[in-house]
Amino acid sequence: MTSHGLLALLLSAAGAPLGAPSGALEVAWPSEGLPTGRATLVQVTSPASRPPMVSLTGTIGDVPLVVLPASADRRSWLVLAPVGIEQRRRHLPLALEATLQDGSAVSWKKPAPIVEAPYDERHLTVSKKFVKPTLAQRKRAAREAKALTAALSKKTPERLWRGSFARPTPGVETSPFGTKRTYNDKKKSRHLGLDLDGAVGAPITSTGRGRVVLAVERFYSGGTVVVDHGQSLFTMYFHMSRIDVRAGDAVEKGQGLGAVGATGQVTGPHLHFSVRFGDLYVDPARLLALDLSADAEDGSPASAVTRP
Ligand SMILES: [Zn+2]
Repeated sequence: MTSHGLLALLLSAAGAPLGAPSGALEVAWPSEGLPTGRATLVQVTSPASRPPMVSLTGTIGDVPLVVLPASADRRSWLVLAPVGIEQRRRHLPLALEATLQDGSAVSWKKPAPIVEAPYDERHLTVSKKFVKPTLAQRKRAAREAKALTAALSKKTPERLWRGSFARPTPGVETSPFGTKRTYNDKKKSRHLGLDLDGAVGAPITSTGRGRVVLAVERFYSGGTVVVDHGQSLFTMYFHMSRIDVRAGDAVEKGQGLGAVGATGQVTGPHLHFSVRFGDLYVDPARLLALDLSADAEDGSPASAVTRP
């Protein structure tokens, strides 16, 4: 696909464009802005009068962007720009640093408009031990929270994932990302993952290529696997009945991680699937819906046809 074809596709999916050309790089995001709680696709193009980009990095606010070359000539790139669900600023600075094929460096920075996305509220009843955990349980949960933070802090700068993300289990969505939950009319929290239905033992597969950084049994999340996809992008799989991988294992997209269960704080068997960009959780359903088949570094047959 040409960069113009890709741009047209991106913008037709997103509505009318709000282009922000500054000469050095052409940057386009959806006209409505970047919604809270999502990673939004932004198109970055080196104009025909300039050399293609050999590398691209950047930040939105202080969170690193996830980037991928989206044309074989590396003139067109796609950026995944994450915005936190609690973000209340109306603009966040989007900053890009590109290295062009002739060795020159290009910087680009502009405020990107942020729009508040709507999220639901729900009341739930769960076992008392989760609302009023014992001291020993609280200590255990605190230890486990520390271990998770440590696993997430070891970031892999290079991109391990390729192409579009795959659904980790075929079950239907039973609870969306972002819902404000009140447990037993007391404890309040935000649902920072997507719940997918499944029977105990149904297979769970990795949404993308990466490396397992945590595979443990935890108090709240039960059987837990965390996969590092590189570029500060992580996915998490909770409440598993069986874990088939170990920390350090390399995994391919679609490779088995274990099975659906009802372990930890649950009302029934399901997969709680969450996606983290840096310190921010974003809507997994929106990530799964992104068409990233233009990925120039994806060796799969689907994208190979776009190569010369
Ligand atoms: Zn959940």
